[in-house]
Amino acid sequence: MALIVHKYGGTSMGSTERIRSVAQRVAKWVRAGHQIVVVPSAMSGETNRLLGLAKELMPNASTPEAMRELDAVAATGEQVSVGLLALALQAQGLQAVSYGGWQVPIKTDSAFTKARITHIDDTRVRADLAAGRVVVITGFQGIDEQGNVTTLGRGGSDTSAVAVAAAMKADECLIYTDVDGVYTTDPRIVPEARRLSTISFEEMLELASQGSKVLQIRSVEFAGKYRVPTRVLSSFTPWDIPLEEEAASGTLITFEEDEKMEQAVVAGIAFNRDEAKISIIGVPDKPGIAFQLLGPVAEANIDVDVIIQNVSHDGRTDFSFTVHRNDYARAMDLLQSRVLPAVGAAKVLGDAKICKVSIVGIGMKSHVGVAATMFRTLSEEGINIQMITTSEIKTSVVIDEKYMELAVRALHKAFGLEQGATA
Ligand code: ADP
Ligand code: ASP
Ligand code: MG
Repeated sequence: MALIVHKYGGTSMGSTERIRSVAQRVAKWVRAGHQIVVVPSAMSGETNRLLGLAKELMPNASTPEAMRELDAVAATGEQVSVGLLALALQAQGLQAVSYGGWQVPIKTDSAFTKARITHIDDTRVRADLAAGRVVVITGFQGIDEQGNVTTLGRGGSDTSAVAVAAAMKADECLIYTDVDGVYTTDPRIVPEARRLSTISFEEMLELASQGSKVLQIRSVEFAGKYRVPTRVLSSFTPWDIPLEEEAASGTLITFEEDEKMEQAVVAGIAFNRDEAKISIIGVPDKPGIAFQLLGPVAEANIDVDVIIQNVSHDGRTDFSFTVHRNDYARAMDLLQSRVLPAVGAAKVLGDAKICKVSIVGIGMKSHVGVAATMFRTLSEEGINIQMITTSEIKTSVVIDEKYMELAVRALHKAFGLEQGATA
């Protein structure tokens, strides 16, 4: 008997028919003798619908008071899912009980809309499992010290599931989704993308942090910190395929670096359309200027990603960085109204139509020329690189958003990542 956490995403929970199929699949695992905790997302499109309603009433909800209410609204999507799934499980003849994050409780900090899990009390869940129940826990939501409902950021149900698995020392966390594993890049953009049967934790972390939405980055962080065996697999196989086959399918995140040694230099390609670029032109080039520009941005709780500073001419320089598109208007406002006059720069330019494309692979540590191949490939496609950033296991470029798909496809081919290709 094993203790296993199943997570089902929005598409997997997308209709009552899909929810019934999830219940049948879970029942298969229970009947094989396993203890199962299920963490579902809201039905597909539901979180967007709920946040859309909120937006109609307050287009720019950015005060803590307003963001508290956004979370109160958004968390209801998962509340509905757990109740429906528990009913579907009971209809399968199983004993099942649903809990909201506040009932477990899943404790978080108070950073509304992007809260972090601080503690999970598993007493109640363990008692239910011992009594033979399937426990269904909301993804995405938690509760802060003051008793407010919080949410964990978009895609946060992955994190709820892995965190519950970590807290309960589960034998495995199975992330069921609408693709049958982690691919060399998003198969919606490159149909020739190849499924990886394993991926190292470091590579998965980097792909997630560079925008690959198959797993929320914090879920990967939890998996790494607590060594939770985590597998991404399809919820769209027939529910009654043999359990052993299902248990070995998809993509397993591995923690042993050596296993990957003879694999391709580049494991995968990620892209991120959620960023915007801001350039400050004609900044006086003197010590402390980066702090004067970015200090107020950080104080406003706006995360900055890629940063470049140009060489200076006549004592002046240009300074560019990227922020999340949700923070773009706020950042532009702040720079124009406060920062520009304070530092005496000439002007601020913004471009929200950019994207970041990244190649990721542990093999890049020991291979030279990988970045050069990336730059050559993009130049052959006539794509201008606006910014570059590198680390040991990734190279990212910022380019015009309209070239994103072209860039991803060309790089996927250049690094021999397609099905059947030999790298
Ligand atoms: P869920 O609702 O199950 O959480 P998501 O939509 O959040 O599902 O994540 C699954 C989607 O992630 C896939 O449909 C796919 O389009 C996308 N995706 C992006 N990058 C990858 C990748 N490297 N491998 C597989 N899927 C990816
Ligand atoms: N329902 C939430 C979202 O759409 C959380 C999730 O699906 O993981 O972002
Ligand atoms: Mg998701």
